[in-house]
Amino acid sequence: MRKFEGDTLLVATHNRGKLEEIAHLLKPYGISVVGAADKGLAEPEETETSFAGNARIKAHAAARATGLPALADDSGIEIDALGGAPGVHTADWAETGQGRDFAMAMSKAHDRLVESGAPQPWRARFCCTLVLAWPDGHDEVFPGTVEGKIIWPMRGDQGHGYDPIFQPDGYEVTFGEMDRWGKNRISHRGDAFARLVAGCFD
Ligand code: IMP
Repeated sequence: MRKFEGDTLLVATHNRGKLEEIAHLLKPYGISVVGAADKGLAEPEETETSFAGNARIKAHAAARATGLPALADDSGIEIDALGGAPGVHTADWAETGQGRDFAMAMSKAHDRLVESGAPQPWRARFCCTLVLAWPDGHDEVFPGTVEGKIIWPMRGDQGHGYDPIFQPDGYEVTFGEMDRWGKNRISHRGDAFARLVAGCFD
């Protein structure tokens, strides 16, 4: 496992919220973070069929372009009765042509589950893979997951994306009903980050 030795990390995201969250997490290690938008980087096309594959595309493109070690993530939800869909297409299911509509995406998932005739509980998991890539082509890959089930109707207005239909194992509330800190402690992203920090920053 290669350790991170520098003091500046490029985070291959155009999402300010994600950037701030990662900056906060790495502050205790004396590392400053720079976002892809600050470096004028384009978003590469995500052509792979796995979260790790797409995170590797983003991390390596950013590391090559800037000469800095770069961190990227890719995430989504897998629903067992739908053969793992929407998976790497999680964000695409919300695409309308005029921005993203997650209520529509959640309805689509529910409709397909009903059509499939699959019995409940509808097992599902959120997945997040983090990739740290260096300009010389080396990388380290950290997958994270949280297991749970799809519930209907949607519950909760916190969080984002598919949170209102996902109830993690061991809880009676959905991710949409948890506050950010409660969710981060058990989430797929929290899991992947813990592995990243233990592997490359501790
Ligand atoms: P990407 O990783 O930016 O390609 O997007 C993955 C998609 O998965 C996003 O559009 C989110 O809607 C969904 N997703 C990922 N993580 C979460 C989560 O923690 N809660 C709800 N939806 C999520």
